[in-house]
Amino acid sequence: MSSQSHHGTVLVSGAGVAGPLLAHWLDRAGFAVVLVERAAARREEGQNVDVRGAGREVLRRTGIEQAALAAHTTEEGTAFVDERGRPRAVLPAAQGESDGATAELEILRGKLSGLLLDLPAERTERVFGDHVTGLDDHGDGVTVTLASGDVREVDLVVVAEGVGSRTRDLVFGGDPVRPLGMYCVYVTIPRTATDDRTWRWYNALEGRSVHLRPDDTGTTRALLNFLSPTRGLADLDPAAQVTVLRRVFRDAGWETDRVLAALDGTPFHFEDLAQVHLDRWSSGRVVLLGDAAHCASPVSGMGTTLGLTGAYVLAGELATAHARGRSHTDAFAAYERRLRPLVTRAQDLPPGTPAVANPRTAWHRQALWTGVRVLTSRPARALGGLTGRFTNPPADAFTVPDYPDLPARAG
Ligand SMILES: Cc1cc2nc3c(=O)[nH]c(=O)nc-3n(C[C@H](O)[C@H](O)[C@H](O)COP(=O)(O)OP(=O)(O)OC[C@H]3O[C@@H](n4cnc5c(N)ncnc54)[C@H](O)[C@@H]3O)c2cc1C
Repeated sequence: MSSQSHHGTVLVSGAGVAGPLLAHWLDRAGFAVVLVERAAARREEGQNVDVRGAGREVLRRTGIEQAALAAHTTEEGTAFVDERGRPRAVLPAAQGESDGATAELEILRGKLSGLLLDLPAERTERVFGDHVTGLDDHGDGVTVTLASGDVREVDLVVVAEGVGSRTRDLVFGGDPVRPLGMYCVYVTIPRTATDDRTWRWYNALEGRSVHLRPDDTGTTRALLNFLSPTRGLADLDPAAQVTVLRRVFRDAGWETDRVLAALDGTPFHFEDLAQVHLDRWSSGRVVLLGDAAHCASPVSGMGTTLGLTGAYVLAGELATAHARGRSHTDAFAAYERRLRPLVTRAQDLPPGTPAVANPRTAWHRQALWTGVRVLTSRPARALGGLTGRFTNPPADAFTVPDYPDLPARAG
């Protein structure tokens, strides 16, 4: 490897969660980094994300665990409510580092991304408002063409562009995105007196649910979920999406109208819930990271943990390969070998997801409430292994490796 650093230059595409953390650790290990983000500025969007087990350990090693804890969303648990807002089943917040629907380290996605982008990265050049349009992996390096016309000669390219990554598709082709049959619409709305510190989850039947969650910035994070066999709605323009949502959630009851009213003039994020499945995460000098490689979907509760853990492991393997005179091919293989089992477990969602949590009939909704009450009862929790699959994502199923070639302390 050559260029600005004797470790070589790595172009990281995507400054969400995994991209900035990787940039920081590579920079800390001595690589030169170019971090390219399609958006014109930092993306503040997104709602609550969970950081569990291995992801939490990575934040600890990075030195920002306490800052992330201080930015907790303040959510205290989940209440499944009926049309009148009465709690019918309750999931308490996490007691440990991995369990529960509300994780102990739960933070707004935009805040976490901001913390990661604020990490020192002296050898990192940041390019916002640009994106990759061409890649030529010529064996000795990669020639990267950006939409601005800029051409970069780098040693390696890491694609951390999230679930809909276009650079991934440029290199790997195929169609690795597997929709789960549900749309999720995120919008931030004004807080009212009825909003408390609980995630209030209202099943409106017909495969619809409405969620109101507290945040630490004085607003309320609303989520509209609906099952649909029709794909492509996420590609419609916002006005058409609002029309769809008004039709789908008409007469849904509870506080739904308040959320629908907020859609006019407020930016919202309309997502077709999906996973990404690929047989391999690297090709030549290009490697995938985070959701672009293996999105498990927000319903897994593991996307951010996987992105953080993967970034640290990839940085560690690249630093190790450099220190021991091994190739990037070895590093990419070791990264995938280590992370793949955790990803496979995280992508293995409980049976019936997401339909079970978004019932079509009153009978199924009653069964869901009863199921939650049983799973969270004292005897069931004592059986951990039997119920854990439904309440605890597998974030503890991974021991974060020690990498002697990654400097332990910042600076
Ligand atoms: C706007 C947004 C809101 C989200 N909200 C939630 C949420 O509420 N709950 C939840 O569980 N998960 C949410 N996620 C997903 C969550 O951030 C990820 O599952 C997880 O943190 C792993 O992050 P990542 O870095 O792999 O991908 P992401 O966080 O998706 O980051 C990918 C980044 O790449 C950028 N990008 C995309 N294409 C290109 C390109 N061609 N060139 C350069 N840059 C590109 C994107 O703008 C984005 O900044 C959201 C993601 C986004 C982008």
